[in-house]
Amino acid sequence: MKRIYFDHSATTPVDEEVLQEMLPYFTEKFGNASSIHSYGRAAKVVLEESREVVADLCRAHANEIYFTGSGTEADNLAILGVIRHPGNQGKHIITSKIEHHAVLHPCEQLEKEGYEVTYLPPDEYGMIDPDSVAQAIRKETVLISVMHANNEVGTINPVQEISRIAREREVLFHTDAVQTFGKLSIDLRQLPVDLMTMSGHKIYGPKGVGVLYIRRGVKLKPIMFGGAHEKNRRPGTENIPAIVGLAKAAAICKKNMNADEKQIKSLRDKLFKQIKDNIPRVRLNGHLEQRLPGLLNLSFEGIEGEALLLSLDLKGVAASSGSACTSGSVDPSHVLRAMGVPPNIAQSSIRFSLGRSNTIEDIDYTAAVLKEIVERLRKLSPFE
Ligand SMILES: *Cc1c(COP(=O)(O)O)cnc(C)c1O
Repeated sequence: MKRIYFDHSATTPVDEEVLQEMLPYFTEKFGNASSIHSYGRAAKVVLEESREVVADLCRAHANEIYFTGSGTEADNLAILGVIRHPGNQGKHIITSKIEHHAVLHPCEQLEKEGYEVTYLPPDEYGMIDPDSVAQAIRKETVLISVMHANNEVGTINPVQEISRIAREREVLFHTDAVQTFGKLSIDLRQLPVDLMTMSGHKIYGPKGVGVLYIRRGVKLKPIMFGGAHEKNRRPGTENIPAIVGLAKAAAICKKNMNADEKQIKSLRDKLFKQIKDNIPRVRLNGHLEQRLPGLLNLSFEGIEGEALLLSLDLKGVAASSGSACTSGSVDPSHVLRAMGVPPNIAQSSIRFSLGRSNTIEDIDYTAAVLKEIVERLRKLSPFE
């Protein structure tokens, strides 16, 4: 059976070139970057080279790049690390209702500890209005955290404007750029972002490695303790193979960014057109233009998203119901809910996230099987 992967926003396969680059660091180049001997020095050299590569892709300085154990850890470090630093006075955070749980859950934890959090609602397209951010700022606001692009619907937020507002009002600004890093060009010399989260496995690198960009001068307290690694901000022996892999993945993204974006977007638009032309009562969730190139979140009225996913999987097509972290639970997506999508429509939504390996044959096949499945499920549906 044909097998097609449309879940690149959940994770991507490690690129073959990335894997080859990583392999020696598991075996002959296994040194600990803190060691004095030649093994250690070699690890230290490649660690710093990797930092340069990551910095280059987002136009940061290498000494502003901090490696972490995941994107989730980087989000936690940004939020908890800023709010808990005694130099950052104030007990209020502004974020949005559509953030990844790696941002929402640390914010909820802080509420339990006595901090105040404002969760801004998006508009119906999943976008955060910069004016709403400006209006939510108080004297005691320490941090604003609004994601660059949403992982469920793909909407790209106006982080340029939001970060400018934060800078003017002297509030720190963090953005979770896990879905955009390596896919859209990010220039931190132009963008007044103070902290930015990235992850390896969404860009054809390995799982279990992330990055937090921390602008020079930002006060941040570590959230773990145990060593002086990463300039005392993130202890733990550096995961050199994964860091090398992330850097290689970033370098490949830099080289192919424009071509990848064009190809993936064109396939995504073809898939949408074929679905729209052949299946009635389909609705697009997210912004029509300001959207990640590979993302297509659709509602098929009258059908359970989960049933649709299972039927697609039987035909070899792997899609998802919004975020991987919430699937398996019966709650409709917090993102669609915040966008005001009615619960029954939210329940009928699935996400296709396209990537480098997808072809036009994948699109044609998927559109065809989807038509069959939707017709069959709608006939079975008690609501039809
Ligand atoms: C995947 C993802 C994360 C988490 O990154 P991990 O490296 O998997 O921990 C955080 N934010 C967004 C938007 C994501 O898509």
